Amino acid sequence: MSTRPSTAVTSRLSGMACLRCTETWPVAEYEAGCPRCAAEGHASNLRLTYAPGARGISLPYPDAPSLGEGATPLVPLPDLASELQLGGLSAKLEWCNPTGSHKDRMSAQLIARALDRGAARMVAASSGNGGLSVAAYAARAGLAAEIAVTDALPRVYRSAITAHGASLVSVADSMARWQHLAKRVEEGAFAATNYKLPAIGTNPFGIEGYKTIAAELASGTMPDLVVVPCSRGDLLSGIRLGFEEIGEHLPMLVAAEPFPRLGRVLAGADYREQFAGETAQASIAGSTVTWQAVEALRASAGRAVPVADEAARAAQRRLAACGLWAELSAASALAALAALAQGGAMAGRHAVIVLTGSGLRDPGDIDPAARPRNQTASEEALAQPATTGPSPQRTEPSVQQKRENG
Ligand SMILES: [Zn+2]
Repeated sequence: MSTRPSTAVTSRLSGMACLRCTETWPVAEYEAGCPRCAAEGHASNLRLTYAPGARGISLPYPDAPSLGEGATPLVPLPDLASELQLGGLSAKLEWCNPTGSHKDRMSAQLIARALDRGAARMVAASSGNGGLSVAAYAARAGLAAEIAVTDALPRVYRSAITAHGASLVSVADSMARWQHLAKRVEEGAFAATNYKLPAIGTNPFGIEGYKTIAAELASGTMPDLVVVPCSRGDLLSGIRLGFEEIGEHLPMLVAAEPFPRLGRVLAGADYREQFAGETAQASIAGSTVTWQAVEALRASAGRAVPVADEAARAAQRRLAACGLWAELSAASALAALAALAQGGAMAGRHAVIVLTGSGLRDPGDIDPAARPRNQTASEEALAQPATTGPSPQRTEPSVQQKRENG
């Protein structure tokens, strides 16, 4: 059992502001997001605001309990760049974070916030990556953690989460996980994931951690577009907030999603609707859209690209041929980019794909027979449009549907 580290919020933190109505609020926990928007029936997350004058980005807890997260490699992929007629293409390897996913950047800030609030317990609803990250950082900080999962959680996550000392609670489906969290929050636990419906996103203190990705990207050649696997849009929103805080021109942000959700909202649907769909891309599954994700795309003149499972698998194989074994959900970023870049539509642009997790933990039920043998992966397959139609060879949709986000 480690001693709990002390955490202090930065003196530069000045308040919070709504991503939708821009109303400012004192620093606190807002479980329903912006109170004004909540009263109007339009759930929206808040962001943190800081006193002006700092260079680069500010984090609420600069001394958050760390396991060495961040500063992940940015790997150039010149062959893929020329195939897609891009000026440049690099992959941000977020699986190089301590527990193997981008979630660690968020967990460090969330755990610090929980400690600062005197919470006795963290709770998270997870399909794997988020729960494992919260369990590890809670262990680091000496906090108890409980992770709500479904039976579909792969064993590899189960073993690691319990090894960190967190308790696992299995519930029927993803919505039941959110109900379980709501009960625990009422009992005084600190939520490390979204649990509200309509969905809002994770506590804004956690999302601040993702600004570090924007800072790392801005320290090199600024990309023209950044492609992010997306469900509730915590990562997408954090990257947007980071670029804005640095004062750089906001690159075009692209959300890769397994079936049209954000795409439908950008085309006029109400973001509070349910957008049902089945997918093997467990980390970005789910039927909800958040305002923070919509706003990140609008602010950056961005796009949402639906990526069917087969297109994600083709992209996964293509990345594997470059030496990168990505989780199926992560590979969707390349598939989305390939769809956008068709016919030279992104000619000369510099793109970054954010590879959120490794395929070693969750290959997404890849069919071994479909893997290319000693051959360059099919460019044709990669160039296929990321279709919105039903996937013809879906496996166990009911099980896959049970894992969702986080
Ligand atoms: Zn508001």
